[in-house]
Amino acid sequence: RDEDSFKSDASIASEEKKVVTEKTLTKHEKILEGRKKLPVYPYRDEFLAAVKDHQVLILVGETGSGKTTQIPQYLHEIGYSELGKIGCTQPRRVAAMSVAARVAEEMNVKVGHEVGYSIRFENCTSRKTIIQYMTDGMLLREFLTEPDLASYSCLVIDEAHERTLHTDILFGLVKDIVRFRNDLKLIISSATLDAEKFSKYFDDASIFLVPGRMFPVDIYYTKNPEADYVDASVVTVLQIHISQPLDGDVLVFLTGQEEIETAAEILTKRTQALGSRIPELIICPIYANLPSEQQAKIFQKTPKQARKVVLATNIAETSLTIDGICYVIDTGFNKQNSYDARSGMESLMVTPVSQAAANQRAGRAGRTQPGKCFRLFTSYSFHHELDPNTTPEIMRTNMCNVVLMLKSLGINDLLHFDFMDRPPADTLIRALEQLYALGALNDRGELTKLGRRMAEFPLDPMLSKSVIASEKYKCVKEVLSTVSMLSIGSSVFYRPKEKAVHADTAKMNFARGGGGDHITLLRCYTEWADSDYSTQWCFENFVQVRSMRKARDIREQLEGLCERVEIDQNLSSPEDIDTTLKAITAGFFYNTAKLGKSGDYQTVKQRRTVHIHPSSVLSKEEELPGWLTYFELAFTTKEFMRQVAPIKPSWLLEIAPHFYQENDVQDALKKKMPKARKR
Ligand code: ADP
Ligand code: MG
Repeated sequence: RDEDSFKSDASIASEEKKVVTEKTLTKHEKILEGRKKLPVYPYRDEFLAAVKDHQVLILVGETGSGKTTQIPQYLHEIGYSELGKIGCTQPRRVAAMSVAARVAEEMNVKVGHEVGYSIRFENCTSRKTIIQYMTDGMLLREFLTEPDLASYSCLVIDEAHERTLHTDILFGLVKDIVRFRNDLKLIISSATLDAEKFSKYFDDASIFLVPGRMFPVDIYYTKNPEADYVDASVVTVLQIHISQPLDGDVLVFLTGQEEIETAAEILTKRTQALGSRIPELIICPIYANLPSEQQAKIFQKTPKQARKVVLATNIAETSLTIDGICYVIDTGFNKQNSYDARSGMESLMVTPVSQAAANQRAGRAGRTQPGKCFRLFTSYSFHHELDPNTTPEIMRTNMCNVVLMLKSLGINDLLHFDFMDRPPADTLIRALEQLYALGALNDRGELTKLGRRMAEFPLDPMLSKSVIASEKYKCVKEVLSTVSMLSIGSSVFYRPKEKAVHADTAKMNFARGGGGDHITLLRCYTEWADSDYSTQWCFENFVQVRSMRKARDIREQLEGLCERVEIDQNLSSPEDIDTTLKAITAGFFYNTAKLGKSGDYQTVKQRRTVHIHPSSVLSKEEELPGWLTYFELAFTTKEFMRQVAPIKPSWLLEIAPHFYQENDVQDALKKKMPKARKR
């Protein structure tokens, strides 16, 4: 026993007293103390003076220096909030929510009152709101209702270095606005030092630099490439936990929810097996769709005798700062969309990160003391295989959505839009073609009435088209439910490993009667609604209550929008699944595939080999449908179609005669497709 365990009564008494005096410093006062310790604090007045003198300012500071949480408050404290709202954009929903919660706490108000956030399908603001965090996509949508953003006095475009598609488009729009709104203050905030480019773009705007404090971070590489980086990350966490001093938490970068859940599961099992031989390890996942109550867990202070391990996507790269991290484990991957404009194929792929991103990740280990970063790839790979910088999203994504939005804002000449980095011409042309095929643009590239209605929905143009087409097929109710279920973004069906068979049976009950994943989702929603939105029903059917509630929220919002564009939401044909599938096809005729002789699917137009995702109800069918439509492509081990539904080839001629000709579907019409058996 050490001395400490033999405390005298006197020392205990004095400790109790200490607790009492600490309590008199309220939690809120402590927070205020903390604010003063952030690296931006000493620069507060200088920064505010710079804002006064310059309409546009580029702000640069290390992650964790207080840009996101402090700058909007400083602007408020000096009175800008009396002139209008202070808006701050974030590329990620989780960051917008979490930061709003933090700032509300710092200001001692409720989230949604003076400090709020707005993300797609979730508006947590009120008339009182003076500081509003939001995703970059939401601010973009605000241009549709308020083209001069008159209700804002200051805008902070945060995490500019991330160069998301929406942020890039915002750059062009806000640059234009500041020209005629002299009273609007614009701050472009970035965590990386390459601010020159931003400055140059914004007509040589001044750069305000907040020096960070960074401790050295030792970097370790693996000798050989890792075959299974999830497992390797788990092993590394345990090695750190066992061999390194307890006062230092671990941050692991993985690519998505599934991987994070797998890693959490293996870690739980292995630490349980080790039992009391090792100190407690607190496992905290963080990813886009994590319920907000659980998001808060990553910020809780780690108890003395335990260690925290945060399993994160690249959300923790620069968007969120977690105090106390000393060890970073970098798998070297993230999920990125990629787009081949020529073929029109887009997919989400697990991709190696750039050197810049890997360095950002490593930096997270050295915020409060010297740290260590374990890269689960080789030094050779870092130096010779990784790209120096991440390609801006605008270079590698489908721009259909954004082009429709810009057209609705009256920006017709996209070729001369002031892009910071010009997207490939192919991408723009393809977006115009796609919108023309959907009927949103006419042959002169002008917005049609249909296009205007489509733009009202905060959905991908293909989904909005399906919603609008549902009127024609008299199945608005069904399509609204289906589209809402497709838009949740997280999984609907709950499948615990120990009850996998029961869960699969429950899911297949919804699939019975055909119609693939879309109609499975529809049946699931309808039955839940019929159960009076019962929680018990969800438990019994292995359905995630939270996802269902989200679908219901989304559905309610879509109903409201239907009213606005005068679509009769009561149109319904519950008995006829074909009408729903036709309305879906009216939006998704681009995404079609047919079964080849080999038993593989090929996309109809581009002839690319694709596969039904194992999570699809159709992957379990004995007989595969000859033709199908898919919601999205995701490339993991293979090119997978996610959410698929059977269609009839003749529908394509009926629904999209401008896109499909007889010969595209001829084989199918002449002789009935032989029903191939599943291999
Ligand atoms: P930056 O935007 O410059 O990266 P932030 O303003 O996000 O910095 O973070 C400043 C500090 O605020 C962080 O070091 C962290 O301690 C604290 N912080 C931010 N968000 C939270 C939160 N949700 N809970 C607790 N602390 C937080
Ligand atoms: Mg930030």
